Amino acid sequence: AKVSDHIRRANGKTIFSIEVIPPIKGDNLKNLLDNIEPLMEFKPPFIDVTYHREEYIERPEPDGTIRKIITRKRPGTVGICSAILHRFGVDPVPHVLCGGFTRDETEDFLVDLNYLGIDNVLVLRGDPAKPFDTFKPKTNGYSYASELVEQVANMNRGLYLHESDHAMTPSDFCIGVAAYPEKHFEAVDHETDFNYLKMKVDKGADYIVTQMFFDNQKFFDFVKKCREAGITVPIFPGLKPLSTRKQLQVLPRLFHLEMPQDLIKAVEACENDVQARQVGVEWCIQQCRELTKAGVPGLHFYTMGKSDNVIKIAREIF
Ligand code: FAD
Repeated sequence: AKVSDHIRRANGKTIFSIEVIPPIKGDNLKNLLDNIEPLMEFKPPFIDVTYHREEYIERPEPDGTIRKIITRKRPGTVGICSAILHRFGVDPVPHVLCGGFTRDETEDFLVDLNYLGIDNVLVLRGDPAKPFDTFKPKTNGYSYASELVEQVANMNRGLYLHESDHAMTPSDFCIGVAAYPEKHFEAVDHETDFNYLKMKVDKGADYIVTQMFFDNQKFFDFVKKCREAGITVPIFPGLKPLSTRKQLQVLPRLFHLEMPQDLIKAVEACENDVQARQVGVEWCIQQCRELTKAGVPGLHFYTMGKSDNVIKIAREIF
């Protein structure tokens, strides 16, 4: 079923959902599935699976030369979606990227997802391919998520990329997109970023999932602005419980967000990461209580492969 159907069926009750990351190539899928298993207690109606593009790596050889390779560290998104569907009977939401794909490759990818019985996609531009710091589309690929949203919405109407001499079967994907309560790092200002978000919704996005944030006020202000701009689709807050002391510096750098002073103080007072993980859990519980009270459609957790802290939080909320 579609995420939009799940929201309707929840009838105002807050939905629990998670995002998982494919294992590093060569690792066992079992660990990931075993981590998801205990979270079934909270009945997630959907699980997102991230997509990871290729990386450019320079590898030193024994003879001293440097070999340049292009490799994908975390393949397997579609296989994991299929495993989630079969093992848990939960709707998987594969992330679909502009980066690394031509439009035709995207179309074929969407055909595969459709054949697998996948009803949802989270449409993203994708990050720049490592180690580059600017995003470059593939030749005949897309530069912005809004363009890819349009392609999926077109397919949903039976409009494929090329003329065909037979009737094309429309897909029926529910389309999610990303948004940033604290602004996407490349956008010159909030206003510009916001207009492009509106464009994604106008082109066919059915719902929004936000980047993680640790200050609920940032989320509330963002939702208010969306509603004032006529964006009426459901907005899921993305949540990540802070889990190590180091993340106090790492998360703001990676995700371009601000840590609230009270959280900084509480984590700095910790003697070790076990304590920091507990502080992260307690902070997230407070965030979730307030968000639930405000009537969010769901709480979407970035699990990053570990489920123990999300379980502690979910037990308090659901
Ligand atoms: P867009 O909506 O295309 O926006 C990108 C930037 O371009 C913004 O600054 C925007 O303001 C600007 N912009 C948009 N449209 C235009 C336009 N027409 N003209 C000029 N400027 C424009 N990355 C992955 O690689 N794999 C994943 O699985 C993944 N999952 C994610 C899940 C969530 C919930 C979130 C929040 C992010 C995820 N990301 C993932 C990261 C994401 O790919 C990056 O944040 C990326 O830099 C932006 O993606 P987007 O879809 O928001 O881009």
